[in-house]
Amino acid sequence: MIEYDTLNKIALDIKNCQLCLLCSNRKNTVPGEGGFRKKLMIIGEAPGYHEDQSGRPFIGTAGKILRNALLKNNIQFDDVFITNIIKCRPPNNRQPRINEKKICMQYLERQILLLQPKIICLLGNVVSSYILDIKSITNERGSILHKNDLKYFVTYHPAATIYNRNLLNTFEQDIKKLAEYISQN
Ligand code: SF4
Repeated sequence: MIEYDTLNKIALDIKNCQLCLLCSNRKNTVPGEGGFRKKLMIIGEAPGYHEDQSGRPFIGTAGKILRNALLKNNIQFDDVFITNIIKCRPPNNRQPRINEKKICMQYLERQILLLQPKIICLLGNVVSSYILDIKSITNERGSILHKNDLKYFVTYHPAATIYNRNLLNTFEQDIKKLAEYISQN
């Protein structure tokens, strides 16, 4: 009998995962969540403190900024699937290490294969440089990029916009562009 993958199965595998050392300090794994009405996946870097406490992605200040930007374009948080490349919180919110990204990527790949998104929005340099191998998002942000038959859209991580009004404006303009793309395709 063919065994089909599901989001629940992936989440369970993540919950039981001990493939890297980040499993030792986590309170909860953060597999990602949301709906898929807009066929949009949004991918950040890694869970932070609040995400680790709750097991849910983007529930802190950065999540609020992302939610507001989406809402301004009539996209609800639960219309989109939101996750990170790393499913357990790195200590003190340090950047994920290359081996951690390599090992954990298998879960994100399963999620992408299962959901077949119309477009994937990458938030920030860490995730964009890892997945698309681009040096800096400054020149690439706000445009549609292609890799392995998938479409990507790159913008700043909302956490980077917290104390920077200019970046926040740019981030919101990017999300508007992304919303326009989704409504037209
Ligand atoms: S970060 Fe990823 S690979 Fe490492 S333990 Fe958590 S789920 Fe497993």
